[in-house]
Parts: sequence; structure tokens; C-alpha cells
Amino acid sequence: MFFKKSKELYDEARKYIPGGVNSPVRALKAVGCNPAFIKSGKKAYLFDEDSNKYIDYVCSWGPLIFGHANKKIIKSVEEALYHGFTYGAPTKVEVELAKLITKCVPSIEKVRLVSSGTEATMTAIRLARAYTKRDKIIKFKGCYHGHADSFLVQMGSGGLTFSIPTSPGVLEDVAKNTLLANYNNKEDVKNIFNTFKDQISAVIVEPVAGNMGIVKPEDGFLNFLAEITRENGSLLIFDEVITGFRLGLAGAQGIYNIKPDITTLGKIIGGGFPLAAFGGKAQIMDLLSPEGPVYQAGTLSGNPIACTAGITTIKMLLEDPPYDKLEKITKYLTEGMKDIFKKYSIDIYISQCSSMFTPFFCSGKVTDLDSAIKSNTQMYSKFFQGLLNKGVYPPASQFEAWFVSTAHSQKDIDATLETIENVAKNF
Ligand code: PMP
Repeated sequence: MFFKKSKELYDEARKYIPGGVNSPVRALKAVGCNPAFIKSGKKAYLFDEDSNKYIDYVCSWGPLIFGHANKKIIKSVEEALYHGFTYGAPTKVEVELAKLITKCVPSIEKVRLVSSGTEATMTAIRLARAYTKRDKIIKFKGCYHGHADSFLVQMGSGGLTFSIPTSPGVLEDVAKNTLLANYNNKEDVKNIFNTFKDQISAVIVEPVAGNMGIVKPEDGFLNFLAEITRENGSLLIFDEVITGFRLGLAGAQGIYNIKPDITTLGKIIGGGFPLAAFGGKAQIMDLLSPEGPVYQAGTLSGNPIACTAGITTIKMLLEDPPYDKLEKITKYLTEGMKDIFKKYSIDIYISQCSSMFTPFFCSGKVTDLDSAIKSNTQMYSKFFQGLLNKGVYPPASQFEAWFVSTAHSQKDIDATLETIENVAKNF
């Protein structure tokens, strides 16, 4: 493969855009590559500026459950465009999308639309703090909730009781209010609740983690979080920006049968356009301005074009839920991968949940960040480079999810397995 035009664009991009990209992972630094600049996407494929074709397993990091440039979504958006792009006034489509979301996700009685997952999680914790009149939140190591200050923290020297910023520019005073626990670790959570009695406003969690690679909650873990938050007068926030409408119409909470107090959504609900949301019990949501005193706003919030794409996407999911089929084809891919790696004696642990998965280059089970980071990231980089050069586009980090869409055909999956075998045998 040639990357001449991508290379030229990358050189140009770095002159005008920090690092040449508008979101860091796109620079492919973690896997030691230069980025391919994408010109177009169709169905399961990406095409770059050098006319290389890839089978895409990033799917824009999750939104594209129907693949690229889905015709129904294009048609609805095209029609909507002729009516204008944004008004700064309420519209019918916002009501329609809000109704669809509340219908699919029973824990959401009221919902507010925003433009990014970061806005959704940032406001969810503001709301939780206002509702409980408490300052602190519990977050899990390895879960990502966007880049608001409160989430950019790591363990300080005081272990579970003290966090420090991971990014310059985040105030220590902000970071200290985010307490970190290990994913799937009930004891950590109990300890924090004991140490900070009546100070925890909320526990925020990815009910199936997607940002340390896919890590599933162990039996009873999410139920435990629901109980301990209820007992302590704290709120439970499910960050379903990835899992919402990905694992099923009611997201992870539908599968694990839990009703969180607040849910954040993003990605799929915008059908590939900038749209996200947070919602929950009416008594909590009604604290939001202009009904209540908690401020939150957005010039492009509930943008009619994004809402239209979201409505079309959710209606398509409701009309013909693709989840069983998606899970089956993803299983075929992950089982095929396991067989290949076994054949070449390469240690791999594949964690799959519905149509998302992560192949960890390690031998043991991955249950939290500590076990995830035991994987061999150099092997992953080699794997990534091999695949990219042979026309398969995987996520640019060991610690991200691969996504399968309804546009991935059996032929695409078989071609992917063949490519994986070609790469694995030269390891
Ligand atoms: N929460 C989760 C679980 C996410 O995966 C992400 C982004 N990948 C976000 C929040 C932030 O969303 P956004 O990038 O739209 O701000």
C-alpha cells in the first residue's frame, strides 16, 4: 500500500492543527504509524486519499451501527437539510427523538440533547452534585467519560482516597473530588463509601467498559453498585455513550436489568452526526434550567440534522433489531481469531460483548485496568500495522473496542480472518 497523499496531508495538517488531528487517537501514535487520511466511507469500508480500501472495525468509534453512508440515513438527512440547518429554537424532531429514547430506555423519563458525550457526562455529574448536595464522585480506573476536568484524574499517592490530575490545566481542587476504584472491585467501592460517608454524590460507570478495551462487569457488580448508591443516598450514572443502542435497544441496562438514576448516551443516537444526551428520573432532570437552577445549554444542542439522523437510526433499529445477527457474526470473527492465534501459539484473550470486542495480547482473563495493561502493546502495534497494510482498519490502540456493523458481510468477515491469518503467521 502507498500512503503518499496521506503523508503529504499529515505534514500539512501538523502546520495548522496541533498534532495534525482533532482528536489524539487519530494520529495512530500508540501503534507507531502515520495516519491514513480518509476520503470516504461506504458500507463496511473506508477509502483513503491514496485510494487504499480498508474493512473498517472502528466505525467512527461506535456510532456507525449500520456502516458508512447508509442510504436511509442519507435520504432523511438530505430532506432535512432543505428545511435549514439550525434555528436556535425548539423543533418537532427534538421531541420525536426524546420520545424515542424514553420509549427504548425505561430508566430515562426525561432527556436533554447535547452535542458530545463529554457534555453529557460533564452535566450528568453536575446534576448529581446539585441533586445530592454532595461534591465527590466515584469513577473506575480505565473507564473513560470524555475530557471534562473531573474525569482526567489518576490515583495519587494516597491510593483510593486521593486523586491527582492526569492533564496539566486540570485543577488539583477538582481532581481531588473524583475518587478512583478498580473496575469489578466491590471492596474498593465499599471502602470509599466508608471513608467518605455522606459525601459521594454519584458513582459513574461504563456498564460494559469499552475504553480499556472491552471489559465486562462480573456477575452482580452492577447490581452491587445500584444497591450501594441507593443505600447511601448517592446516584448511579451509567455512561452508555458506547453501549447505548449498541448492545440492545435499552443498552447495557436492558441486558443487566438495572435502572440507573442517570444515563448518558452518544454515538449511535446521532447516527454519525454530533449528538449525545443525558437523561433519567424526571425529579432529577427537572433540576435543569429553565425548569430548575442547574445550568446547561448549547447553541447546536438538539440540532435538527443530527436529530433526524438519530431518529432514522433508532427507527431502523426498532423496525428490525439487528442485535442477534450482529452478535453471531461478531462471534464468528472472534472465534476465528482465537483459532488462528492458537494455531500460531500466540497468547490472546478476546473479550466480546455483542458486536464489540477487544483482542488482548495476554494469556489471562481481563477484568480491570490492571489486568488489561498486562497485554503486550508491542504485539498489538505489530498486529495493527500488519492489518492496516493489508486493508483491515482496526482501532489504533490495544485498549479500544473493535466494532462490527450490519454492513459487514460474511465475505468481509472471512476476508478479515484471512488477513489476520496472513499477519499472525509472520509474527
Ligand atoms: N463516554 C464514553 C463511554 C465514551 O466512550 C466517550 C468517547 N469515546 C465519551 C464518554 C465522550 O464522548 P465524546 O467523544 O462524544 O465527547
